Amino acid sequence: MSNPSQKIPATLIPGDGIGPEVSVATLEILEAVGAPFEWERCTAGMGGIEACGDPLPPETIESIRRTRLALKGPLTTPIGGGYRSSNVRLREEFELYANLRPARTLVPGGRYEDIDLVLVRENLEGLYVGHEMYIPVGQDPRAVAVASGVNTRAGATRVCEFAFDYAVKNGRKKVTLVHKANVLKALTGLFLEAGREVAKRYEGRVAVDDRIIDACAMQLVMNPWQFDVIVTTNLFGDVLSDLNAGLVGGLGMAPAGNIGTDAAIFEAVHGSAPDIAGKGLANPLALLLSSAMMLDHVGHQDKAKRVRRAVDTVLREDNIRTGDLGGKATTKDFTKAVVKRL
Ligand code: NAD
Repeated sequence: MSNPSQKIPATLIPGDGIGPEVSVATLEILEAVGAPFEWERCTAGMGGIEACGDPLPPETIESIRRTRLALKGPLTTPIGGGYRSSNVRLREEFELYANLRPARTLVPGGRYEDIDLVLVRENLEGLYVGHEMYIPVGQDPRAVAVASGVNTRAGATRVCEFAFDYAVKNGRKKVTLVHKANVLKALTGLFLEAGREVAKRYEGRVAVDDRIIDACAMQLVMNPWQFDVIVTTNLFGDVLSDLNAGLVGGLGMAPAGNIGTDAAIFEAVHGSAPDIAGKGLANPLALLLSSAMMLDHVGHQDKAKRVRRAVDTVLREDNIRTGDLGGKATTKDFTKAVVKRL
């Protein structure tokens, strides 16, 4: 547990579109719970392009290098201009090897009740390393497409260690290793092998099992409650994290963390919602829950728990919800209600 009175420097990227609105809401709630963050405000996305012609300005990168901790609102992806995704650049720049995506039922009455799953996705390797090429045949320059995936023992080991550590620190009972080692014997067989090695070190503390990706997808739909923490490679993790979000009502309220050895960046999964930007209607939950993950990350689990409990009460007992959840509350109404419950 960290010293409760110690200030923790952190970078804040409010983001584009609804980003500033949901950031104001999140900061107000963090203030009410006594979160220790001392914010350095930075820009990225369209904000970065307008400020200095770069969707990921050097000052923003320098700030994260200093604070090693960031909260990021949604960024509008510039169309044209040949910009690389800022999210991918941040991942690579800070070697954010673990993508952490919890999925928890917030609003009862959906297709599934009481879902509480955590997915850990390897963020830097696998089929997303981008080693792709075409092979021409005859007159067709793109007759054949080839992609190579790269998994390393070191990479698989560190993300599996992260998943098991996370399980221990957060009172989780089981980690499921997800793979396709029956077909991609080397690429994902290595991941499974490394995961099983890591599991041995946690024997007696965290249970382990494994699933083939296709069976896992089916079982998540049939009986999601059998899972606790899932750890998997990049591509499978990309798909399963959205599947899990679907179990709890979609991406709208999904928080995420991108965690590396040198930095951690927490973010809302949804986009900048230009259709409702500036109208005061946005649901701040995704960014708020991302900030709760950030509190967990810096050892303030007690405050994170209080935020989650207040959110649950506002949604379930006070029935105060924003329009995307079928309610009538504005961003400000919802924020006020959470602050009151705190
Ligand atoms: P989006 O997530 O912004 O919007 C999809 C729909 O969900 C819209 O109807 C929107 O109003 C609604 N919505 C999203 N977040 C909401 C919230 N917090 N409260 C209430 N309603 C919400 O997706 P999009 O329209 O495809 O993308 C818009 C922009 O955001 C694009 O430039 C896209 O590239 C970018 N984007 C960024 C990220 C990111 O930074 N992580 C993720 C996805 C999309």
